[in-house]
Amino acid sequence: MAVVQHQLVVIGAGPGGYVAAIRAAQLGLDVGCVESEEALGGTCLRVGCIPSKALLESSERYSEAQHGLSVHGVRVGDVSLDLTAMMRRKTGIVTQFVKGVAWLFKKNQVKHYRGTARLAGAGRVRVEGPNPVELVAPHILIATGSRPAGLPGVEVDGSRIVTSTEALAFPEVPGRLLVIGAGAIGLELGSVWRRLGSAVTVVEYLDRILPTMDGEMSRLALRSFQRQGMTFEFGARVSGARVDGEECVLEIAERGEVRGDRVLVAVGRAPATAGLGLEELGLACDRRGYIQVDEHFATSVPGVYAVGDVIGGAMLAHKASEEGVACVERIATGYGHVNYDAIPSVVYTEPEVASVGKTEEQLVEAAVPFRKGSFAFKASGRAAALGQTEGAVKLLAHADTDRILGAHLVGPRVSELVSELVVAVECGASSEDLARTCHAHPTLSEVVKEAALAVDGRAVHG
Ligand code: FAD
Ligand code: NAD
Repeated sequence: MAVVQHQLVVIGAGPGGYVAAIRAAQLGLDVGCVESEEALGGTCLRVGCIPSKALLESSERYSEAQHGLSVHGVRVGDVSLDLTAMMRRKTGIVTQFVKGVAWLFKKNQVKHYRGTARLAGAGRVRVEGPNPVELVAPHILIATGSRPAGLPGVEVDGSRIVTSTEALAFPEVPGRLLVIGAGAIGLELGSVWRRLGSAVTVVEYLDRILPTMDGEMSRLALRSFQRQGMTFEFGARVSGARVDGEECVLEIAERGEVRGDRVLVAVGRAPATAGLGLEELGLACDRRGYIQVDEHFATSVPGVYAVGDVIGGAMLAHKASEEGVACVERIATGYGHVNYDAIPSVVYTEPEVASVGKTEEQLVEAAVPFRKGSFAFKASGRAAALGQTEGAVKLLAHADTDRILGAHLVGPRVSELVSELVVAVECGASSEDLARTCHAHPTLSEVVKEAALAVDGRAVHG
């Protein structure tokens, strides 16, 4: 078997691994990156962020063409769905971005190895694939990501009872779609298929949607989803699922059965570490299987690091990338850092849900004194022009210093608006800084300014 020497070997070419590989190459390291899938880009590009956003956008267009244009005085004839074309567009976008990562690897001289990597001892990685090879490097970065978590009693068959991967490519619109879990995947993919015509029921163990988000804002978003016709069963623990003839049956503990045509299991994701050789190397994982790292992403084995979904925390592409960059910058320069308070989180439903920093519940629990300012989109001229007036912006600022500690948004395009608040948190801005900043009129961002004014009880338009 050929043996190749590198300064850094990255395992996994998702947003954690491929961004780390490129940054390390920019810093002058000789980098190899191993990926078991033919397509680079990881879960995010292949079966996650990008295809789901493509379908969310297309399904929103379809829904608007059906129900949202007459109010603008635009008459359209019969609107019909070409699901094959919609899926083709999604696949085209994915292919384009996958090729983009390959191009970036070439440009930055990151050597790409196709195959499955396994740690073969200190500083050694064995790659099994079309061209088996052993890679030797003083630094190894594990960025193998995650896979859909299973549920006891629920056997995913990939056809009727599925994970997000298959729900991104249903061959036809399910009549009745049962979604297990009211997290980001359940709500985003539930929204896609509801807009395309499915009757969607979301079955959730807890008494709320989006459990990590601010409670008040999650209730606000829930009301919008219910108005759109999504049905929710809360406090409902799914204990089993099976296919029964032409139907799927969900068993809900102490409640009975719900029937549908397809089931999407969206109960979280688990670290992808199988076959990596962690046990043989004595590399420590926590009890849920996530790789344990210190604040510099070093594992318990010297020279081996880990970032992204495989180390747990928020399972977000940009969080994985930030960690990858910080990790290799520290290897190459001695310095690298991630500010976890300034990692935004977005759910791309309609309305969108976005947040950064602490929730109200977290501040209360930590006994941090805070002031709160909220402002609703219904008072925004731009939101009215868009015809998207549901939702609000809520800012939480320290009661003594006025420093912004958290920002929570539900409404149109808040996925973009949240960036202003991420900058504010990153720079230690106060609510007064935001309130005194001129925002263009008429824009949705004026709602952020008004929420900042509201922290001091002086919103102008509300
Ligand atoms: P991954 O992207 O999972 O990449 C890991 C890579 O490692 C994979 O390509 C895998 O094939 C490879 N690999 C694994 N084991 C080996 C091995 N032994 N040898 C070689 N290669 C290996 N996040 C957001 O921020 N925004 C979103 O809008 C968003 N939407 C999502 C929608 C869906 C449907 C899903 C499922 C996820 C979504 N996420 C989103 C989450 C996001 O995809 C992940 O947080 C992100 O991909 C994690 O990046 P990663 O690099 O840690 O791992
Ligand atoms: P999640 O952890 O966000 O939500 C899972 C939900 O399932 C929880 O609300 C949980 O209470 C519920 N649940 C668990 N067991 C249950 C049971 N037996 N019966 C009923 N309900 C049950 O997980 P997800 O939605 O699968 O997403 C996985 C990861 O992917 C998340 O970490 C998320 O951050 C990431 N993701 C992010 C985005 C985005 O950023 N827009 C989009 C999709 C996925």
